[in-house]
Amino acid sequence: MSRTLPALLSAMVVAIAFGGAAQAQRPTFETTKVDGTDTVYIFRYQNHQSMFVVTPAGVVVTDPIGHARPQAVRTYIDEIRKITQAPIRYVIYSHQHFDHIAGGKPFKDLGATFVAHRRARERLEAIKYEDAVIPDEVVDERRVISLGGTQIELTFVGRNHSDNSLVMRLPKEKVLFAVDFIPLQAVSSFAFHDGYPVEWDESLKKVLAMDWDKLIPGHPFAGGLGTKKHVEELLAYMTELSAEVKKAAQAGKCWEDAEKEVRLPKYAHWANYERGIASNIRRYCGYWGRGF
Ligand SMILES: [Zn+2]
Repeated sequence: MSRTLPALLSAMVVAIAFGGAAQAQRPTFETTKVDGTDTVYIFRYQNHQSMFVVTPAGVVVTDPIGHARPQAVRTYIDEIRKITQAPIRYVIYSHQHFDHIAGGKPFKDLGATFVAHRRARERLEAIKYEDAVIPDEVVDERRVISLGGTQIELTFVGRNHSDNSLVMRLPKEKVLFAVDFIPLQAVSSFAFHDGYPVEWDESLKKVLAMDWDKLIPGHPFAGGLGTKKHVEELLAYMTELSAEVKKAAQAGKCWEDAEKEVRLPKYAHWANYERGIASNIRRYCGYWGRGF
């Protein structure tokens, strides 16, 4: 059960950071079609987002986003049914964290095949969390799902925020869905996770090398839709912070002094900056200062 509490904490941090007053006016949920596509939709429920793809042959759903709120999944299905009566064929998990993938049983009951990275299934089998459907099929490096004239490419781009994140790309529509490892203009608190610094940067470079225009993130930062510029900014932030903490570690300042002293003011306007950067410094201190 050691991963359960960190996953919960991370969900809470995101909820606190991104549930501020500016968003209090928003409706609880919202379904929007991605501009420039006929098939790609974003379902947002409170502070989580999930992509779904509608084809004449069926619907591909991604994260159920139903952790501790079964009404979110009922709403998700109702929203799909307003658009199409085609069968829901697949549910694809972005990574194994419960705040994104729990609650999918109603999709299972409708006959969907569940797909995830192999390590996500291994983790879920080990944890045995009762509200997480165990994936039927797994991906190691890459798989393309073709349905009703639409292709969805699933790629493992390396370890980052988790060790089992799948990036989902629609080559024709040039849309990418990536969850939690590419926050838009926000600092995620990754000391709480089994985050993989430095390797994370490599996965961002792989994402940048792919052909796409629009990024759907798992949380509605920066308006809920991103571009390559957001990924470049995040990569710059992580590279700069890593270099600063490496210097601090070599000067013997890890942990507390580094967490207090190291700052990157040009990112201070990002959501969750103060809380997030301290947690990021802790993780980099582990990497550069302790060999973790
Ligand atoms: Zn996560």
